[in-house]
Amino acid sequence: MIYQRSSALFAAAEKVIPGGVNSPVRAFKGVGGTPIFVKAAKGAYLYDEDGNRLIDYINSWGPMILGHTFEPVVNAVVEKAKKGTSFGMPTEIETKIAELAVSMVPNIDKIRFVNSGTEACMSAVRLARGFTGRDKIIKFAGCYHGHSDSFLIQAGSGASTFGTPNSPGVTQGTAKDTLLANYNDIENVKALIASNPNEIACIIIEPVAGNMGCIPPKAGFLEALRELCDANGILLVFDEVMTGFRLAKGGAQQLFNINADIVCFGKVIGGGLPVGAFAARNEIMNHLAPLGPVYQAGTLSGNPLAMAAGLAMLTELNNDSEIFNRLAEKTEYLHKGMAKVLNDNKITHTINRVGSMISVHFAEGEVTDFNSSAKGNNDTFKAFFHGMLKEGVYIAPSAFETWFITDALAYEDLDFTIKAVDKVAQTL
Ligand SMILES: *Cc1c(COP(=O)(O)O)cnc(C)c1O
Repeated sequence: MIYQRSSALFAAAEKVIPGGVNSPVRAFKGVGGTPIFVKAAKGAYLYDEDGNRLIDYINSWGPMILGHTFEPVVNAVVEKAKKGTSFGMPTEIETKIAELAVSMVPNIDKIRFVNSGTEACMSAVRLARGFTGRDKIIKFAGCYHGHSDSFLIQAGSGASTFGTPNSPGVTQGTAKDTLLANYNDIENVKALIASNPNEIACIIIEPVAGNMGCIPPKAGFLEALRELCDANGILLVFDEVMTGFRLAKGGAQQLFNINADIVCFGKVIGGGLPVGAFAARNEIMNHLAPLGPVYQAGTLSGNPLAMAAGLAMLTELNNDSEIFNRLAEKTEYLHKGMAKVLNDNKITHTINRVGSMISVHFAEGEVTDFNSSAKGNNDTFKAFFHGMLKEGVYIAPSAFETWFITDALAYEDLDFTIKAVDKVAQTL
């Protein structure tokens, strides 16, 4: 494949945009080489500026769960745009998407829309602090909750790819209120709670971790967190920015049958436009301005184009009773196919999968937390990434990212991908 035009566009971008990208994970820093500039996308495929076609396993990092340029979403946005793109006044569509989201997700009465997953998580924690009157939070190493100050403590994903899990610019005052636990380690959480009695406002967690590669919660782990929270007056915050409207209609809460106190959304809920949201029971949400004292706001929050895209997406997911089964079946097929060819080629690996989230860890043994994920062989990953790219398959340029399966992927695309893995594995 030729990447002349992408390379030239990247060189131009680097002059005026730090690192040439508006979000670090888009750079190829973790794998080497220069990022690919996309021109258009349709269904399961990306078309880059050099005319290459790539099968897409990133899908805008999750939102395009039904594939690119999904017609109902595109049409909804185009129609809305003709009527005005932003008013800073209430619009009916905000209530429509809120009603639909509340009907799909367990245990929430009200939802507030924001512009990104970062904002959703940041606001959720402020709300938890305002509600409980406590300052500290517990997060898990390798979990990513956006780039706001409280969370850039051992953050996964981009932060881990670049070896800067703790960002300069986060003050010690802020950092001291974020306590760090190991994913899937309930004793660790118990110890933190015991040594900070009545000080912890919330535990925030990705109920299926996706930002240190895909890591499922161990059986009983989320249940144990729920019990600990109940026993200690702590709110349980599920960051479902990745898992929401992806693992099930009602996200991880539904899949694992566990109620969180506050739930954060992003990615799929915006159908590819910039949307985030956080939601909870009335008791908690009524603490938010203008009803309550916890302040949170946004000039473009609930933006009509964004709401139109989100509503079209959620409507489709709500009406298609088979969608989440279909996605899980495709993902399982890919899992089995890749496991077979990697085993045949004697490549050390562990594949983790939940629903339509999957990742190949080039690590020996179970991958259950950040440490076991970080043990993966990054040189193997780099070679794998570039090999797959050459074959026309685009996976995230970092070993710490999950692959997102979309409904637009046909079984022929999955077979093509498995063949590519086989070919690349022979070179590793
Ligand atoms: C992507 C992501 C975020 C951040 O969302 P942005 O829209 O990028 O700000 C937060 N939490 C999780 C679990 C995510 O995957």
